[in-house]
Amino acid sequence: MEKLQQLYEGKAKKVFATENPDLLIVSYKDDATAFNGEKKGTIIGKGVVNNRVTNHLMQYLEANGIPTHFVEELNDRETVVKRVQIVPLEVIVRNIAAGSLAKRLGLEEGTPMKRTVLEYCYKDDALGDPMVNEYHILAMEYATEEELKLIADYSLRINELLGKYFAELGVRLIDFKLEFGRTSDGTIVLADEISPDTCRFWDVATGMKLDKDRFRRDLGGVEDAYNEIMKRVFSK
Ligand code: UDP
Repeated sequence: MEKLQQLYEGKAKKVFATENPDLLIVSYKDDATAFNGEKKGTIIGKGVVNNRVTNHLMQYLEANGIPTHFVEELNDRETVVKRVQIVPLEVIVRNIAAGSLAKRLGLEEGTPMKRTVLEYCYKDDALGDPMVNEYHILAMEYATEEELKLIADYSLRINELLGKYFAELGVRLIDFKLEFGRTSDGTIVLADEISPDTCRFWDVATGMKLDKDRFRRDLGGVEDAYNEIMKRVFSK
């Protein structure tokens, strides 16, 4: 499978057409951004980690009944995926209060939530990805009621599967962000990535952050943290 013209360049990935109109190639970059693009930098090797970790986890999820856009890993940075129309929502799944939730509700980071919390943000850079609820989503027709039900069910199931998976690796899954898409026949599938860019991972033994917060908060050891996650993910 060969890359044809570049269709899109985002903050962390480039997307290319292929000879098959239903398939795309994504290419993961080392570029890092935070705070809606305000902070920019490079995390050496991040593209490799995020590509390989995403693909490994998508295959695990697929084997456990979650449809995904994953088709085939081409090399360390490039993967063939199904072409989808992205549902313009970021689905945030939270087990432990951190980041914007801790700030918004005045909680100490690390406070366990008594139930899993789902949040939705409307994907729009110019608006800063505002949080929306089910009523906004249906009123604005970002997704249908049926799609939204499926997206919520998949997100909670993904949380159970990933939570269990990472617990066995000595990693606490604090929170993460998912994106879904519609294939050409309208099927809802998991899309985008699952990586240290999009999840908060804390080491069970030490509490050390093993994710993009090291970059966001200038904690140092960013590359080491990404590599540690890849090493653990590939240990099983
Ligand atoms: N997240 C993401 N992309 C975004 C916003 C959040 O991948 O545009 C992830 C983030 O890495 C974290 C979770 O979603 O794992 C919750 O993020 P939060 O709302 O706390 O925002 P943040 O504090 O990261 O800005």
